Amino acid sequence: MESPLTFEEAQTWILAAVRTLPAEPVRVGDAAGRVLAEDVRSTIDLPPFPSSAMDGYAVRSVDLPGSLRVVGESAAGSPFEGTLGPGEAVAISTGAVVPEGADAVAPVEIVVNKDNGVEIERGLDAGASIRPRGGDVRAGDVVAPAGRRLGPTALAGIAAAGVGSVSCAHRPRVAILATGSELVVPGEPLEPGQIYESNTLMLAAALAVAGAEIVSGPAVRDDEASLRDALGRGLECDVLVTSGGVSVGEHDLVREVERELGVEESFWRVAIKPGKPLAFGTRGATLVFGLPGNPVSALVGAELFVKPALRALQGVAEPLPRFEPGRLGSDLRRNSERDEFVRARTRTDDDAVVLDPLRGQESHMIASASAAEAIVHIPRGNGELNAGAVVSWLRLNVP
Ligand code: AMP
Ligand code: MG
Repeated sequence: MESPLTFEEAQTWILAAVRTLPAEPVRVGDAAGRVLAEDVRSTIDLPPFPSSAMDGYAVRSVDLPGSLRVVGESAAGSPFEGTLGPGEAVAISTGAVVPEGADAVAPVEIVVNKDNGVEIERGLDAGASIRPRGGDVRAGDVVAPAGRRLGPTALAGIAAAGVGSVSCAHRPRVAILATGSELVVPGEPLEPGQIYESNTLMLAAALAVAGAEIVSGPAVRDDEASLRDALGRGLECDVLVTSGGVSVGEHDLVREVERELGVEESFWRVAIKPGKPLAFGTRGATLVFGLPGNPVSALVGAELFVKPALRALQGVAEPLPRFEPGRLGSDLRRNSERDEFVRARTRTDDDAVVLDPLRGQESHMIASASAAEAIVHIPRGNGELNAGAVVSWLRLNVP
């Protein structure tokens, strides 16, 4: 039997099989979480006119210090019509157009009101408290590049630049299918030998965060006919993610039935703990992930392998998981054969993020993992990694 791939090799195989989904126009109001297929360029200079950064008076800096006549007002949305002459000032509010002729704004704090006018006792530099036209971005400049997922800041930048619709890759349709004759919907009574099904909810939540449109149903039993029917329907989606039934037991039929349905398996088994018996293949453009049934194994598989594929399908510029450096909070024994992914909580201590491994690290212990905020990568090797050792870790629940 071939030796299992490293997780990096497995990721490379998976990303090589991904073709970015076609793009569609999306109204900016519906684009949160979507990924840009094309650069977005500003339609305008922003700000579109020289605007005031303060509430105060628009003035000519050469007139200061001095007493000025107030000849009108420029409010946000209602510009002053006319040009400022010598010895004149215009009352102005933040964001309002600075009138022709003015080259500075005196904030109210330095202004003393007189009958019909104002007295300003200090000088101001030309340009003081004026936001120049185009100071933020110029018409035609890129405000958000292709490959960016649209969060609050990118959306605001696009909206401010006057863009009403953007081009985004389709959201991947992802079928999630739990397999196992022992599985029962939570809330129903348990018969002897049964357990509650938790992978569908977990995977749906994890993958929706990454932009997937989830298609899921009840768990399917470990018999060929039921599997053929359910897997056949799942294969109609862009991605099929199953859990369970990919190990070496009598009742592990998923890979065999998928093969009959035309899935070409790229690899089976990855040298990680938990999550070793993971299968990946394709049927046409459909990506097919067979995650192990143990819930923690399925979680790790989703983070390391399925989410990168979903990002790549959407054209995310850097689809691989973003590991960050941190320090281990307690000693851990290393595994000599497999890279380990340990569930942990995070805290900060001085400048470092500290990862505290959770109690109960076995792959079936999903309740023990329920407080996890991170998975910590412990590279295979001998002996212990001690508290304080630098490790890399991945934040859970990120897109
Ligand atoms: P399998 O990969 O099918 O051999 O399953 C491995 C272990 O995970 C078994 O103990 C299963 O009962 C459990 N398991 C499989 N699927 C699920 C699921 N959807 N929810 C909770 N536990 C599961
Ligand atoms: Mg099973």
